[in-house]
Amino acid sequence: MRIGTGYDVHRLTEGRKLILGGVEIPWEKGLLGHSDADVILHAIMDALLGAAALGDIGQHFPDTDPAWEGASSLDLLKRVGAILEENNYIVENIDSTIIAQRPKLASYLPAMRENVARALNLELSQVSIKATTEEGLGFTGSGEGIAAQAVCLLLPLMDLVADDIVNGTPSGCAGCSGCPRS
Ligand code: MG
Repeated sequence: MRIGTGYDVHRLTEGRKLILGGVEIPWEKGLLGHSDADVILHAIMDALLGAAALGDIGQHFPDTDPAWEGASSLDLLKRVGAILEENNYIVENIDSTIIAQRPKLASYLPAMRENVARALNLELSQVSIKATTEEGLGFTGSGEGIAAQAVCLLLPLMDLVADDIVNGTPSGCAGCSGCPRS
């Protein structure tokens, strides 16, 4: 198993859409950024890349590159999923937190989880997205910005193979594409 963490912050500003976890949320302000500034997906991507020691999203999708201007962070997340697959990693689980004073996000969290699970071909139970405030303190409390944190566990495919050598291939093995078990 390999663990990764991600952290991101974007400034709230007028005249931008608020997109979190690939969900457009009706709000008077949105997050400023080169892409769609989806702060929770950025934290999740950095956790995934970090767990694999494959750099960060700034390295893979630089904000100086016009190719990523206005990019959908869900599309970038799919690309990160492909990078992990190329490097023979399986995502075990993701946990994450959006830190925002307003708006209330609870009703949007299920759709965000579904978006992340779909982008990475995961079960819904492997993806957790939570939301909290910071009790009016700091830049999230004043509404200047939104922050996000994420952690994840990756399973290197070689670990599965090593387990099989010791324990034998499990009878319930799904034989997922790309897996050396299948
Ligand atoms: Mg960002």
